[in-house]
Amino acid sequence: MKPRFSIKNILITVILLLLGSITVVISISLIQSKQVNANARIITNTQEALISSERLFSLTETNATSFRGYLVSGEKNYLDLFGKSQTDISGELSKLKTLTRDNATQQKRIDTLSFFINKRTDLYNKLLKEREKKGSSEFMSIADTRESELLMGKILHYINIMKSTEFVLLDQRRGEDQERIIALYRILEIAIVILLVLLGFFISKLRSDFLEKRKAAMLLEKINEDLEKNVLDRTIELSETKNDLIETFNRITDAFIAIDANWCYTYANKRTGELIQRDPESLIGKNVWEEFPEAVGSDTYKVFHKVMKEQKYICNTDYFAPLDLWQENHVYPSPNGIFVYIRDITKKKKTEIELNKIIKSLEDYRFALDQSSIISITDRQGYITHINDNFCKISKYSREELIGKTNNVINSGFHQSDFFNEMWNTISSGKVWRGQIRNTAKTGEYYWVDTTIVPFLDKNNKPLQYLSIHFDITEKKIAEEHVLNTLRENNIILESIDDAFFAVDRNWIVTYWNSLSEKVLGRPKIDIIGKNLWEAFPDSVNSQFYLYYHKAMRENIAQNFEEHSERLNLWYEVSVYPSERGLSVYFKDVTDRKLSELQLKELNEHLQSQAHELVVSNRYLEQFAYVASHDLQEPLRMVTSFLTILEKKYASVIDEKGKQYIYYAVDGAKRMRQIILDLLEFSRVGTKEDKMEDFNLNDLVNEIQILFRNKIEEKNATIHVGVLPTIKSYKVPLRQVFQNLISNSLKYARVGIPCEISIKATELKNHWQFEITDNGIGIDEEYFEKIFVIFQRLHSKEEYSGTGIGLAIAKKIIENVGGKIWVASEEGKGASFYFTILKALK
Ligand code: ADP
Repeated sequence: MKPRFSIKNILITVILLLLGSITVVISISLIQSKQVNANARIITNTQEALISSERLFSLTETNATSFRGYLVSGEKNYLDLFGKSQTDISGELSKLKTLTRDNATQQKRIDTLSFFINKRTDLYNKLLKEREKKGSSEFMSIADTRESELLMGKILHYINIMKSTEFVLLDQRRGEDQERIIALYRILEIAIVILLVLLGFFISKLRSDFLEKRKAAMLLEKINEDLEKNVLDRTIELSETKNDLIETFNRITDAFIAIDANWCYTYANKRTGELIQRDPESLIGKNVWEEFPEAVGSDTYKVFHKVMKEQKYICNTDYFAPLDLWQENHVYPSPNGIFVYIRDITKKKKTEIELNKIIKSLEDYRFALDQSSIISITDRQGYITHINDNFCKISKYSREELIGKTNNVINSGFHQSDFFNEMWNTISSGKVWRGQIRNTAKTGEYYWVDTTIVPFLDKNNKPLQYLSIHFDITEKKIAEEHVLNTLRENNIILESIDDAFFAVDRNWIVTYWNSLSEKVLGRPKIDIIGKNLWEAFPDSVNSQFYLYYHKAMRENIAQNFEEHSERLNLWYEVSVYPSERGLSVYFKDVTDRKLSELQLKELNEHLQSQAHELVVSNRYLEQFAYVASHDLQEPLRMVTSFLTILEKKYASVIDEKGKQYIYYAVDGAKRMRQIILDLLEFSRVGTKEDKMEDFNLNDLVNEIQILFRNKIEEKNATIHVGVLPTIKSYKVPLRQVFQNLISNSLKYARVGIPCEISIKATELKNHWQFEITDNGIGIDEEYFEKIFVIFQRLHSKEEYSGTGIGLAIAKKIIENVGGKIWVASEEGKGASFYFTILKALK
């Protein structure tokens, strides 16, 4: 039985009560002492005021008596007493004033009293002066005496009133004081009574508590006795059933052994024998550690020793290698040693180890999954129950912000509701869903995740929860979007270009077909996209297109060819570009170019035939010129020689006129011969198989000067030669050019003026330019072109000899070496001949 109040509680309560009482008493005393003090102060004041009034009364009388004594006797003692009493009166008055400061009536009275006292003092002083003057008291008039008495009466009257007022006040205050003390004592008495009642109550409780405890102790003693009896009975019963127990032990599925204090087996059941594969009886009397030395030092060894020593039950699990046995030992202390239940938990333990391995590998999987992926788990209603750190990281939400919410929190609104409906239908029917989702992070930016949602099913194949594994594919998606945008842009370009363009994959399925392809190839985009190219154009199989396209696809090399569209009557340049995905084919309209090319080709062919004709006719002409010049030489020579013979043989017969005719005829024949030779020379220009060689033009000009030495002397000519280059060209024809031009400068010099010739060279980008200038007769601008035409001369042979072929030969040679020749001159002021030759002649 549980006591209702513990001693401790009661003690605390009592202490509290006592403390409370003390506090009450102390406070009352304090209050009381405060009040009493206050009252005492007031009473004391009243008493003092009363005493002061009394003193004032007696001082007033003393003052009057001493005054009168002095007036009558004239003795100084009386005068001193009078002075002193006078001082005391004013001191007493001020004291009284202080003591009665809280009483306005008394204060007024004091003021009135002071007034009369002062007045009387003034009267006394006046009378004293007169006394001193007259030396006796006889001067004192009846009026003065009456006034003195009147003032004295008023003073005493007021003092008496003040006294009686203070008396009344003293009585009244004493009465009030008395009443207050009585009231305080009453309160104190009540408090003490209450405290005593409480104390009595708790003491009675304490007593009943003590009695209950005593009763309980007695009951416990009784129960103990019964228990001991029961235990004894039970022990007897137990010993009686020992044999039954042994039998039972033999039947139980666990091994059971009893070991005495010397570690020897006293009992081992059948199951023990099965475990160690020995007859259990063979163990009896044997030492455990000698039988199983491998167990010494093991956990079991330690537990057995501990139970033996501390006599307390212990359970342990241990592995015994020699028997490959996992054992769960329940070790009990016994009066003689220990009992041990050995449960074979090998199977369970091995399963447990396997299970732990599986759990460990599952944990490893989970760790790996957590590390590599973004994980979330939702319940069957779609509320988030778990998210990993990666989920928080990508969504920028904290775990607390997402747990208990649906995935709507991160919904970007990008996908249509059908998308989520399809997802939900899939996973709620227990199937795995895969897809790519665009979500929005807390910060507002979106992210893409490749998602696999796996439903976890219950026994009835109904989803319990959903595990979502996401991978961040934002970067990939952005790149894809970029590619798509580029493709879109490309499409715009491809649609706007003037070329037809189409694309096929590696299975010849058309993946792109621009609008111009529709026009050029006569198929609308809608019909061809997604179809096989060769099925769409069966006639083109084995065509030129087919062969080129296959070649490009097979060899992975771009192909270019031109083809005419019969349907549109246009020419197209076809470019085929292979790629990993297939082929891209461009058709470029090249009709204009193609037509110009064809025209050009025709023109070229025409020109070639004309050139051929020219070559043939040139060859004929050359042959003709050669034959003519060669064959004409002979008759000319005959004419000249027969005329010479005629002149010699018939000199005596032919008169002077005849001789002159013969001279003209010979001269004409000579000139004709020269013309023929010149013509031959002209016709041979460019036909000779000259070889190119390096030569210095200064050397060449020097050689010519040597050749023309006589003529130079004759014309008193000076030739100024600048620095001329070394060139690689045809030396003989170029010598001819220099020779002809220098020869002309000497020939067409002005009469009587020393001939001045200068020769210069200027290097241009691709050519050398030469200039041969003289100070001769010059040429009119009108003839600048004419002089380069064969046989064209500006003078008669009588004026200047020549056949008019020199400049024509020079022009032909210069043009043959890729140059030009021209003249600049003013008649009478000399002439400058310019010509260029290619630097790099082939
Ligand atoms: P040719 O000197 O035999 O008459 P060219 O063909 O050499 O034949 O010259 C053609 C003509 O050009 C000459 O007849 C002459 O009138 C004129 N000519 C050529 N060189 C000069 C020159 N240096 N000064 C003036 N006239 C010239």
